[in-house]
Amino acid sequence: MSSLPVLVLNSGSSSIKFSAYEAANGSRKKLFEGAVDGIGTENGKFWIKDADGNKKLDQTRDLPSRAVAFKLIADELHSGDVPAPAAIGHRAVCGGPTIKENQLITPALIDEIESYQALAPLHTPIGVYIMREALKLFPGIPNFAVLDTYFHRTIPEVASRMPIPDEWVAMGVRRYGYHGISYESIIMQLEPNVPEKLIVAHLGNGASISAIRNGQCLDTSMALTPSSGIISGTRTGDIDPGILIFMLKKIAETKPNALDAADALETIVSKKSGLLGVSGTSNDMRDLRTAINAGNAGARLAVDKFNWTIARWIGSYVAELGGLDMLVFTGGIGENDIDARAEICSGLGALGIKVDAKRNNVRGEATISADDSPVTVRVIPPAEDLIIVNHVVRLLSK
Ligand code: AMP
Repeated sequence: MSSLPVLVLNSGSSSIKFSAYEAANGSRKKLFEGAVDGIGTENGKFWIKDADGNKKLDQTRDLPSRAVAFKLIADELHSGDVPAPAAIGHRAVCGGPTIKENQLITPALIDEIESYQALAPLHTPIGVYIMREALKLFPGIPNFAVLDTYFHRTIPEVASRMPIPDEWVAMGVRRYGYHGISYESIIMQLEPNVPEKLIVAHLGNGASISAIRNGQCLDTSMALTPSSGIISGTRTGDIDPGILIFMLKKIAETKPNALDAADALETIVSKKSGLLGVSGTSNDMRDLRTAINAGNAGARLAVDKFNWTIARWIGSYVAELGGLDMLVFTGGIGENDIDARAEICSGLGALGIKVDAKRNNVRGEATISADDSPVTVRVIPPAEDLIIVNHVVRLLSK
């Protein structure tokens, strides 16, 4: 294969990240990267770094909508300053029950991904918007969807099946799992020494954890939607279904229309709960640490609950895997919050997890377990864009 510029578009709920790589045979060279962050605010950020990591552009912009945000990127990509892409890879958060493989994007595929937007309501609307815009922006250039759900296709039925009647299962209600591109990137970085029994905790604004055997996903905390599993920045994580029924009935007293009531419930579950809901202060771990230092009890409880949930999940995955060789922390909190890693692991000595306080005093890639820890504990930043490029190159060569 001759060398090929591949553009990666990775949208979050309020950001669009973009990067480009020169892909040739086994090599991948980053050409540039950038992001538009803070969509929906007057103080959005638009930045671009060149191949050496130097800031080429760093602006604060009014970003009232995703259309304004994407236009900034589109103008930059068409400015002639950067090479035109030969192919484009899009992060697609959820393929629903029918789209299981990473594949070429067509208008029909976008419609199908959009039809499952209720499964990832914070991510899919902006994701499909960008796919449609990219098809218009670069006519004739192949665009590929790379799914977060793809990595989790190996989970056995006992984990994917929900304990509900068949008719709901037939409608696509099951465990899909998310953050799959991040998990794939951790496996890629561990190769060729992927441990047999591995737990990866992706702790970012959205948080999930997976049990992985021989590089294949065995179980993952997020189920039908990214609101499930571990408590996240603004999402509940797993809660008693009776709570949802209780809340829905209360909401229906003022919103008798069922869809309005469901929308109001969704806002509480996915935007107002989690660390934000418990602390009453912020969804952002840095703010919570500042609040804790100032003696804020709500912030302390929120972070304690976060750590407690993750420790319980690690325990259940050790049982599921029948032991543990390695625990990996990744994501913004996993990579940077020294205290969270120490607090999560502090009660896990019985599982063979022993963190060395000095080694843990780092941000970014490191091995943080003690020499006598039976389980290796590591911090590994994800490399999601590289995984998207790898899938694009593989699909192009088909
Ligand atoms: P992500 O979604 O992976 O970008 O992660 C975002 C989360 O990482 C937010 O809760 C941030 O507060 C948290 N985070 C980023 N940097 C730090 C840091 N230095 N210390 C603690 N938390 C951090």
